[in-house]
Amino acid sequence: MIRKIRKAAVIGSGIMGGGIAALLAGAGVKVLLLDIVPFDLKDGERNDPAARNRIVKAGLDVALSAKPSLFFNKKDVGQIAIGNLEDDIWRLSECDWIIEVVVENLVVKRDLFARVEKVRKADTIVSTNTSGIPLIDICEGFSQEFKEHFMGTHFFNPVRYMHLLELIPGADTLPEILEFVATFGEKNLGKGIVWAKDTPNFVGNRIGIQGIGAIMEAMVEEGLTIPEVDTIFGSALGRPKTAIFKTVDLVGLDTVIHVCKNSYELCFDDEQREALLLPEFVGKMAKKNLLGNKTKAGFYKTELTSERKKLRKVLNPATMEYEELVRTSFPCIDAAKKKPSLKEKIRCVLKGDDRGGKFA
Ligand code: NAD
Repeated sequence: MIRKIRKAAVIGSGIMGGGIAALLAGAGVKVLLLDIVPFDLKDGERNDPAARNRIVKAGLDVALSAKPSLFFNKKDVGQIAIGNLEDDIWRLSECDWIIEVVVENLVVKRDLFARVEKVRKADTIVSTNTSGIPLIDICEGFSQEFKEHFMGTHFFNPVRYMHLLELIPGADTLPEILEFVATFGEKNLGKGIVWAKDTPNFVGNRIGIQGIGAIMEAMVEEGLTIPEVDTIFGSALGRPKTAIFKTVDLVGLDTVIHVCKNSYELCFDDEQREALLLPEFVGKMAKKNLLGNKTKAGFYKTELTSERKKLRKVLNPATMEYEELVRTSFPCIDAAKKKPSLKEKIRCVLKGDDRGGKFA
């Protein structure tokens, strides 16, 4: 039988779910985007489909208004149907691929898959976008047929622009399923595949968050500011312009904290394990719901002045107050910008004898 993905379900319409739905729609796949029914429905709203779909509708609206655009073409949104996990879960039986993209929490994911298992048709591919919860824990106790069709498909953020797609085989995933998803990911979705083992946080995040943790700790110890660190760890060192803190704002601080905690608990013999314990001010931020772009305030935020002008602000970790963002630089960074190749830029920063170079 020739396998085809005519219709896919994306469960979870947050940062990643919205992006994955947009990517699939752009590749000509019909998408069913589902999310939870809001917990705070008023009496008059309980039977109102619009109110019940409020979360998924908001998620899709955020994806549609994302800049840079998550959709190749805004018309692709016509490929996406929305629904909720109570009224529409039966519609998973119409899907050829079900992608779970809900909060990074083992219990939530397992509860959801228990419901998915009851309605999915046999042979449907099921995957998780977990940042690194072991697949073996997620699918423990599910049927053999489910496990044979279950794997990790770890997209990166923003989904349209990040080339990497990590694929993680489960212990029982059929080779034909792995092969099919790899080919589909490459040919239909335009991604570059990296195979990962089912180890804590796979490859990209396992490396990335350890670096982020170590840099945050060093910043506190050395007394640098958030913009200073972002200036050093940006394009001059061959990293994205979002550097460290803007990247965490983009990803969501709650997700980064989950990934660090997960790695800390599971990588108990790692010689650099302490780097996974994030500084105290980061915990305070999470308590205040300063999670980044998704809550409109993180390490950075944008405020509107009384003249309705945009004012960028940045958190001062010592006071937990936001201060106006002023441009920072270091002589080694300014010099690196003038170098023609990345190799020379990096060398220039690392050889710099100013605070920036020494910190790098
Ligand atoms: P998010 O917080 O933006 O969205 C999570 C979604 O889960 C929300 O739409 C929420 O309504 C839904 N949800 C909450 N509780 C639920 C429940 N009990 N049952 C079902 N759905 C529920 O999160 P996100 O950043 O999109 O992350 C989703 C998944 O993708 C996580 O596993 C995360 O680790 C992973 N991931 C995130 C990133 C990133 O950069 N943010 C990158 C790669 C992978």
